[in-house]
Amino acid sequence: REALLEVRELKTYYSTETGVTRSVDGVSFKIERGEVLGVVGESGCGKSVMSYSVMGLVEEPGRIVGGEIIFEGTDLAKLSKGELKKLQGNAMSMIFQEPLTSLNPLLTIGYQISENIMLHQAAKKKTAKQRSIEMLRKVGIARPEAVFRSYPHELSGGMRQRAMIAIALSCNPKLLIADEPTTALDVTIQAQILRLMQELRDETQASIMIITHDLGVIAEMVDRVIVMYAGQVVEEGDVYELFRAPKHPYTLGLIRSTPRLEETRVELDSIPGTVPAPSRMPAGCRFHPRCAFAAKRCASEAPPLRELGSGTKARCWLHEEGEVNLVDERKPGD
Ligand code: SF4
Ligand code: MG
Repeated sequence: REALLEVRELKTYYSTETGVTRSVDGVSFKIERGEVLGVVGESGCGKSVMSYSVMGLVEEPGRIVGGEIIFEGTDLAKLSKGELKKLQGNAMSMIFQEPLTSLNPLLTIGYQISENIMLHQAAKKKTAKQRSIEMLRKVGIARPEAVFRSYPHELSGGMRQRAMIAIALSCNPKLLIADEPTTALDVTIQAQILRLMQELRDETQASIMIITHDLGVIAEMVDRVIVMYAGQVVEEGDVYELFRAPKHPYTLGLIRSTPRLEETRVELDSIPGTVPAPSRMPAGCRFHPRCAFAAKRCASEAPPLRELGSGTKARCWLHEEGEVNLVDERKPGD
């Protein structure tokens, strides 16, 4: 199958007086049509910058300094701002963490959604209004006519998030990128929003990339996962396999610090230490200062992202001589 999106060796750096921050440092992955890909990692791991790079939303002093972003055969990294604009909110759209920052506070929800429909579907005002109201109904808004006339600040957080999803979906995107789409919402609304995104995927065969620090969201929603740490992919694989037998110590740490995954029946633990500042990356394996499995060489030699037998990939020396089961064979802290 041809991938809808293929990112190859993407590098997005920020240059400031204090030095160069390698926020995204050689990231590669694919998304098939109709696939839901999860991107996980703690804040600061580069996942948002990666998605902004795909959407053409990186701003100075940030810059894509290397790699390719192939979307339906076109390298987005080579397009002009104007050409990218045409794709944004059309073939690709994005749902942000905090709707208030991406919705225009001075315009009604109805104006914002129908404007989008008029722009991208060449629809007349009346048709655009009808479609907007249908869209608002589709995202589970009970009184779409009232919401159509409302300003963002008049709505609850959950309603705003739904309205933003309606806007994002109003142009039938082929790729929907959702950056922490439910973080600001309470658990019930989170579940509704995730279900809604799933339904829309089933209906339209859109591909979805969900960016989150929350493995609970990942377990519920996605087919495949990439785990990012310090600007790089450290593990990639099928979601079931990832939870069953994580291959990277960082992934294991994330799973152990996730309260909602009762199946794993492990004590809650947090990963010691913090994500390194991208301007001061540790030598060797970037995770070594926090890794309970670290060996001597880990401090000086950077491991490659290696393909393992189980169809997963991991960037860790432990698997150099064949796959090691982190959960059974050794326990961090023992
Ligand atoms: Fe830990 Fe070494 Fe693997 Fe890095 S390479 S994750 S430090 S065991
Ligand atoms: Mg972020």
